[in-house]
Amino acid sequence: MDDKQFFRKNLLAWHRNHHRPMPWKGERDPYKIWLSEIILQQTRVEQGLPYYAKFLAAYPTVHQLADAPLDAVLKNWEGLGYYSRARNLHAAARHIANALDGTFPDSYESIRALKGVGDYTAAAIASFAYDLPHAVLDGNVYRVLARFFGIDTPIDSTPAKKEFAALAQSLLDERSPGAYNQAIMDFGARHCTPRQPACSGCPMSSRCVALQSGRVAQLPVKKKTITKRMRFFAYAVFEHRNTVWLRRRDGKDIWQQLYEFPLLEQPETPADTATVPPLLVQHFFPEGAPEGLELQAVSKTYRQTLSHQIIQAVFIEFKMPDNLEVVDFQKTRLLDYTQTEQFKLKKILAVPRIIDWYWQEKAVTLRLV
Ligand code: SF4
Repeated sequence: MDDKQFFRKNLLAWHRNHHRPMPWKGERDPYKIWLSEIILQQTRVEQGLPYYAKFLAAYPTVHQLADAPLDAVLKNWEGLGYYSRARNLHAAARHIANALDGTFPDSYESIRALKGVGDYTAAAIASFAYDLPHAVLDGNVYRVLARFFGIDTPIDSTPAKKEFAALAQSLLDERSPGAYNQAIMDFGARHCTPRQPACSGCPMSSRCVALQSGRVAQLPVKKKTITKRMRFFAYAVFEHRNTVWLRRRDGKDIWQQLYEFPLLEQPETPADTATVPPLLVQHFFPEGAPEGLELQAVSKTYRQTLSHQIIQAVFIEFKMPDNLEVVDFQKTRLLDYTQTEQFKLKKILAVPRIIDWYWQEKAVTLRLV
């Protein structure tokens, strides 16, 4: 038996005894599989599970997802991060419902052509829903293959994609591609884990190159370490009775289509956040603060880590003048923002997680005083 046959045989045997039940496993409905795969991109299974249940309950069919307003879909997605997934999911649902008459595509290429679907997701849907012979290649698979076969090509380099994809494809059990793909992903997620893989009880250990050559901790190799960009967001929370000013983010930056308070991004993190309120007043009211505008509070600094950025944010609370007529909005920088009832922030509009954290803590503080 060669190494590939050995690998395939032992992997499938391992999976027979370590099957991890999940609501979408064994599922053949491509809509449900697609939903689960999009939710699980960059998300841990434990975190994704309740969202999968929530989306299936809210949108049992692709038509219902397509008919939903984008704001509602984003609101249901709130807390999961990487919101482009939700926007793409919604756009793809509309495409399937309208251009494809509600029929989910059934070839690898046509699945891959859906918005938000890359090579990995297309292979997963094609193999799980239609048993098409396409091997998945995700972080788990890279790790397992790099270790077992002792490959030290950096997995984030251009040649790696080709090399690993060809190897993964050659290992696929073509009689049962869906089961094989599930097995290798589960093996990477549960057994050959990034840190402390279970080498001592591993059915592959006798031929695992990484283990035999003492390189388990060194494989897979990565070329670059990501340097995260630091950003500081100063938010002005202008309150007037039960309203605040909000806008929907657009453009190419993070958090597209999510709602936020008036924002003034700072070139660097201020040494003292007490210096921020005058900057906000100056920025939003360039011709001078309206009479009756009051500074209420300066929040602590919140911090959210994204894949390529670290966002720090401080929320400066102002009370707007009781009589709003004293504010000449044409002379402010609030024209892009809409006065919005506060309950919508909690119930209807999706906001970035950092805003949600602040808003929840503020609600708790108000309840306590
Ligand atoms: S022996 Fe260790 S490193 Fe090799 S495949 Fe098994 S768990 Fe992974």
